[in-house]
Amino acid sequence: MTISRRSLLQSAALTALASAGPAALAKPIRPSTRAALIVVDVQNCFVEGGTLPVKGGAEIVPIINKIAPAFANIVVTQDWHTAGHASFASSHASKKPFETAKLSYGTQVLWPDHCVQGTEDAALHKDLALPTAQVIVRKGFHKSVDSYSAFEEADRKTRTGLAGYLKERGIRTVYVTGLATDFCVAWTALDARKLGFNVYVVEDATRAIDLDGSLAAAWKKLKAAGVKRIQSADLIIPT
Ligand SMILES: [Zn+2]
Repeated sequence: MTISRRSLLQSAALTALASAGPAALAKPIRPSTRAALIVVDVQNCFVEGGTLPVKGGAEIVPIINKIAPAFANIVVTQDWHTAGHASFASSHASKKPFETAKLSYGTQVLWPDHCVQGTEDAALHKDLALPTAQVIVRKGFHKSVDSYSAFEEADRKTRTGLAGYLKERGIRTVYVTGLATDFCVAWTALDARKLGFNVYVVEDATRAIDLDGSLAAAWKKLKAAGVKRIQSADLIIPT
């Protein structure tokens, strides 16, 4: 991902403004029975000890577990790549992880090999406790297409079917958590907005990769799209 120094500085300034931003919500939120919690990619690969660790990734597990009882519906996603996947730097001659490549659908960030189907690395984090989780959406299993979003693959054409599932269940609001804030969480939240859902991102239940200003850029896009940024403490959790 390339980004100019100027835009990087602008992003940094926006982050500073945003972090000064809204105080705790005046009125706590009680998610309705028609809301779903989406838990994005909380897998061994994305926590310390995994192949593509997100700093502090494991810290969100107890936070997600704490808010889970507020949701009658939980959807979990799982990054689930073929060996030799197109998003792996190792699949491209002379490319290193975190460089980019042009693929058929556009520019792709290249990652270390991660979350290969059936490996322990791709397993969901063992401490996740989500009794009302009903659906696991596996993504990134088409060898030539990556998929950050739970709704649509990176070719921006192939749908996962999650929107149809949620709509058939009468679910109009989603709360997005997981890894990483600036990639799979942000893309999932943005697509959910595009598809007509009310969308919250529970910030402290996410952690970011923050590659070349990607976190500030993601928050800027999320805000512009009308995604609400909240903290886990803003939610009313049944006891
Ligand atoms: Zn991946």
